[in-house]
Amino acid sequence: MASPVLSRAGIPTARRIVVKVGSSSISGPNTDQIAPLVDALAAAHARGTEVILVSSGAIATGMPFLKLDSRPTDLATQQAAAAVGQNVLIYRYQESLDRFRIVAAQVLLTAGDLENPTHRGNAQRAMDRLLDLRILPIVNENDTVATHEIRFGDNDRLAALVSQLVRADLLVLLSDIDSLYDIPPEKPGAHRISEVPFDDDLARVEFGDIGRAGVGTGGAGTKVAAAKLAATSGTPVLLAATRQVAAALDGAEIGTWFAAAPA
Ligand code: GLU
Repeated sequence: MASPVLSRAGIPTARRIVVKVGSSSISGPNTDQIAPLVDALAAAHARGTEVILVSSGAIATGMPFLKLDSRPTDLATQQAAAAVGQNVLIYRYQESLDRFRIVAAQVLLTAGDLENPTHRGNAQRAMDRLLDLRILPIVNENDTVATHEIRFGDNDRLAALVSQLVRADLLVLLSDIDSLYDIPPEKPGAHRISEVPFDDDLARVEFGDIGRAGVGTGGAGTKVAAAKLAATSGTPVLLAATRQVAAALDGAEIGTWFAAAPA
């Protein structure tokens, strides 16, 4: 069971965390954000936290190799770009993790796998074993056989399902969005929402298109839906900006904290 008591300040003591990063944070002009992200994950790993990274960005990373200037619109080319980009993405993560002598594992899953009892059991056993071995699993959607996250949400929902699978103490959703706001943050008078109690339906929040970056598919709405899904199964969620990952994993008072359902 996930710990019912984990708070933002307690993040450094978490036993097992899932960190999800969005496409635009780690591809194209932001490829250099991989190193500071890995620095923060390695720091958590070094203090004994088990870390699972859910990373989007296969399509965005594959685009230049297919000589595409913009994200392809047809599914088959998106899948082709993902298949090429996944390889490069994992290579980039491993190259960065080498600085800490951490070994990555590539885990490609679909939501359907997590609903099928045999596949779910296999994935759970493999993940537990990888974490026992101090390996850092890097999860993405298996885009050649499933396209849910390509179409709706840049792996936000997948990250919530993975948090359930591994019974994580915490899910951290990193993207260009630094927190949830009551109205779209580009509008005057927008206020950051620091905490979302479990029973808050967020009816007062007006969702805009902010965070819908050119190469990803997740906006604030898909993040809130994913956060609610994880929180309902007992995992609190922190929504924060990718560039703030170190502070987020240190338990700083940043981002938006979604409290989990009481145990
Ligand atoms: N699995 C896809 C990727 O890694 C999902 C994200 C997206 O829609 O760009 O690229």
